[in-house]
Amino acid sequence: MSDRATPAPAPGKHFIHQAVTEDNRTGRFGGRVVTRFPPEPNGYLHIGHAKSICLNFGLARDFDGTCHLRFGDTNPTKESVEYVESIMADVHWLGFDWGKNLFYASDYFEQLYQWAEDLIRKGLAYVDDLTPDQMREYRGTLTEPGRTSPFRARSVEENLDLFRRMRAGEFEDGTKTLRAKIDMASPNVNMRDPVMYRIRRAPHHRTENRWCIYPMYDWAHGLSDSIERITHSICTLEYEDHRPLYDWYIEAVGVYHPQQIEFARLNLSHTVMSKRRLLELVEGRHVSGWDDPRMPTIAGLRRRGYTPEAIRDFCDRIGVAKADSMVDVALLEHCIREDLNRRANRVMAVLRPLRLVIENYPEGHVEELDAVNNPEDPTAGSRKLPFSRVLYIEADDFREDPPKKYFRLAPGAEVRLRYGYFVRCTAVTKDASGQVTEVRCTYDPATRGGDAPDGRRVKGTIHWVSAPHAIPAEVRLYDHLFTKANPSDDKDGLDWKAHLNPGSLERIPDARVEPGLAGAKPGTRYQFERVGYFTVDPDSRQGGLVFNRTVGLRDTWAKIEKSGG
Ligand code: ATP
Ligand code: MG
Repeated sequence: MSDRATPAPAPGKHFIHQAVTEDNRTGRFGGRVVTRFPPEPNGYLHIGHAKSICLNFGLARDFDGTCHLRFGDTNPTKESVEYVESIMADVHWLGFDWGKNLFYASDYFEQLYQWAEDLIRKGLAYVDDLTPDQMREYRGTLTEPGRTSPFRARSVEENLDLFRRMRAGEFEDGTKTLRAKIDMASPNVNMRDPVMYRIRRAPHHRTENRWCIYPMYDWAHGLSDSIERITHSICTLEYEDHRPLYDWYIEAVGVYHPQQIEFARLNLSHTVMSKRRLLELVEGRHVSGWDDPRMPTIAGLRRRGYTPEAIRDFCDRIGVAKADSMVDVALLEHCIREDLNRRANRVMAVLRPLRLVIENYPEGHVEELDAVNNPEDPTAGSRKLPFSRVLYIEADDFREDPPKKYFRLAPGAEVRLRYGYFVRCTAVTKDASGQVTEVRCTYDPATRGGDAPDGRRVKGTIHWVSAPHAIPAEVRLYDHLFTKANPSDDKDGLDWKAHLNPGSLERIPDARVEPGLAGAKPGTRYQFERVGYFTVDPDSRQGGLVFNRTVGLRDTWAKIEKSGG
């Protein structure tokens, strides 16, 4: 079996969809369907989050339910308003709307605190003085049971008093914790008296300095689900071992009980996905920021030229399963290529210009040629392209010494200029070093529009721009950020950053594009004929046009799929 996810057989009918259908049939939640997307605002969203967003908002849509956006903001030292805002913008951009259902775990701090006191009163929680190091040592391992803390036997009164004083700020950071009293011998280490609260004097982006104790993820998470009356709390497989704790907390407090369901996270080849690692790439300046077009972040993909439709299509195709897998990034590229093929206007752009002079074309003469904007979209219309005596063609489209089956331009050879005429190469001009600096041609005026009345054929059609009319542009070509398919697999003993691709960004400073692109707005997407799909980068605002290559024209996905995907 391949390690690549295959497209889901029937989109929308995955096992979680079935579970929700079954709960509706039995009336378990009274027919309600309430899901949530619960990011921690400690970084920008990535394509893995898109899978979770499509799943949660998709279920709400399919079952006429609601999906909440809830920030799991329980760790003030790593979180910020910048992240909160970027997450909201990205969810909206992907095409989903939480309506009135925007929540913050930090809004529940007081309620969570009261419930923690309840657990103390029930004898189910205690204040511990073990240091973090000691606690680790007492915790045991997967094969050895943990040991009981000497502070576990404290009385309810003492625990209540100490916990209130923790909240009041009487103790130093890290000197005390509140722990659930569960089972230090449990085979599941998550159940070995997990920490519920720690002391941390750090201002929170919403609660500011009102709290110096903060709830741990597991404690806050399930109860936040309960407060919001979530029906299906969907999370990734790593949380399967936390489910007993999720259930224990809710039962111990004695409140409404949602159902946690786990699914396999998205892993994508040639990139890393954890926010911790993405942050490391940003802080280590391996990329220009969270929205660097090479990043797997939503912001990066957007800047690269991806559409929300293509990302949603990708999420549909990878499906939802219970087994971890690695999806080839070629599938994501296939999705955007398909979408842009339908919607992107075709234009002419020459990345590495080579001068072509048509010797028998009148000096100073300019013609306007008709060019189709998008053959896939009859409503896209056509435009006029200026044609003149001096053109630029792609340096690659000329060979002085052509190999066999090279159908582009070479001495003596004839090609079609897209939307223009047939030209035949008569001579070349070279510089002192022998480099070809100019191609000399003659054109056949009878071939205007691209066909010869005498029925003579040419095998090659090349693109071009008119030299006096074309405008200069910077073009940025991107390749995979990592050379290794799974940089996180450390079986080779190397750090994941050792696999960064030194050639992931190539800047072409002096490309030329057709004049109609002057003033193109950032985010506009084009197909550069014969070259690839490109989008205008926001850096264009600073002056000259800058284009990002979204994806090349060649689709590798079909090939991969055929070879046994
Ligand atoms: P990371 O490990 O990248 O930091 P996270 O799980 O810590 O991600 P959260 O902000 O907690 O990030 O994630 C919000 C939601 O997105 C969670 O429900 C989580 O399960 C889901 N999610 C995160 N990464 C992926 C992924 N690669 N595939 C699918 N869902 C994901
Ligand atoms: Mg996390």
